[in-house]
Amino acid sequence: MIAKELISTKTIDIVVPCYNEEDMLEMFFTESKKILDTISNYSFKFIFVDDGSRDRTLKILMSLAEKWPQVSYISFSRNFGKEAAMYAGFKYTTGDYIIVMDADLQHPPAMIPDMIAEIEKGHDCCAARRTDRKGESKIKSSFSRMFYRLSNRLTDVNLVQGAVDFRIMTSQMVDSIMELSENQRFSKGIFAWVGFDTVWIPYHNIERPVGQSKWSFWGLFKYAIDGITAFSIAPLRMVTAFGFFISTCAFVYIIVTLIQTLICGIAVPGYVTTLSAVLFLGGIIEFSLGILGEYIGHIYIEAKNRPIFIIKETNIPLTKSSRRMKQEDNRE
Ligand code: UDP
Ligand code: MG
Repeated sequence: MIAKELISTKTIDIVVPCYNEEDMLEMFFTESKKILDTISNYSFKFIFVDDGSRDRTLKILMSLAEKWPQVSYISFSRNFGKEAAMYAGFKYTTGDYIIVMDADLQHPPAMIPDMIAEIEKGHDCCAARRTDRKGESKIKSSFSRMFYRLSNRLTDVNLVQGAVDFRIMTSQMVDSIMELSENQRFSKGIFAWVGFDTVWIPYHNIERPVGQSKWSFWGLFKYAIDGITAFSIAPLRMVTAFGFFISTCAFVYIIVTLIQTLICGIAVPGYVTTLSAVLFLGGIIEFSLGILGEYIGHIYIEAKNRPIFIIKETNIPLTKSSRRMKQEDNRE
C-alpha cells in the first residue's frame, strides 16, 4: 500500500530567486509550507537561489536547509539578476513539475493547489496574471502597458498583459526553456517563445509586505529594450524603412528645387530650412546608430559566451547527477 502511494507521488520543485530578502524569507517559507502541507500526493522541494544578496539571506537559507530536508539553496558569487537566478534554479530541478515564484509573497502560495489542478488536466503550464496594478505608480503602469503593446506589435511572441513570473510547468517545458541558453535572458519572452499550452489564472496584485522592489525605473526601461531586441529585428527594419522614406523625400525635394531654379533662377538660400534639415537628419542618424548599437551590443555579449551565473555555495551536491547538467555537458 505504502509502496503504491510512493509510486503515485509526483515531485514538484519550487524555484525561488532571492535578492536581499532577509525580511521575507522565513515568512515566505512558513506561508508556502502551510499551503503545501494541505496538498497530498505530491512531494515538494524548494530550490532557493540567493542572487548575491548582501544581507542575511544566505544565512537564513542555510538555517532553513538545516531544519528542513526539502530546502536546497544555490548562492551566487555576486548579483547576476533575477533572470540568471531563475535559469540556475531550473538547471537543478529534477521534479515532474516545476514552479517558479518570487520570495516576497506577491505571488500568493494559495494559488498553488489551483495551478496543480490545472496542469493535471493535461496543460503544459499554468501561469498567474495580475488583473490590476494596485500599489504601483501610475507612470510605471502606463509605461508597462505601452511596452506590452509595442512588444506584441514588433515581436512574434505574444506577451500576456499582467503576466508575472509565477507559474507551474511540466519538466518537458522546462527542458525546452533550458535549450535557450542565451546570456541576456528575457524569461517572459522565452516562456512564450517555447510554445506549449498555457492556461492563465487571474489574481489581484498584492503589495510587498516588507522590503521594496529591486527594480528601478531605468532598470525596467533597459529590461524592456532587451525584451524587444531579443525577440525581434523589427527595429532594424524600421531604420531601413525610415532611411528609404527620407531618401525619397530628399529626391523629390531635389527635383522640385531643380525645376524651380530652372524656371525662376537661383532662390535665396533659406538658413532655417537648411539647419532644420541637418538637425533632423542628424537626429535620425543618431537614433539609427543607437538601434544598430543595441543589436551589436547583444551580439558582443553573446559572442563572449560567459557563464550566466557563478555559484559560490550550495547544498546541492554538484556532481553531474542532475539531468540538465548532463544535457549541458553533451552540448559542450
Ligand atoms: N530578485 C533577484 N535578483 C535581482 C532582483 C530581484 O533574484 O537582482 C528576486 C527578488 O528577491 C524577488 C523577485 O526576484 O524574489 C522579484 O523581485 P522584486 O520583488 O524586487 O520585483 P517586483 O515584484 O517589483 O517585480
Ligand atoms: Mg516583488
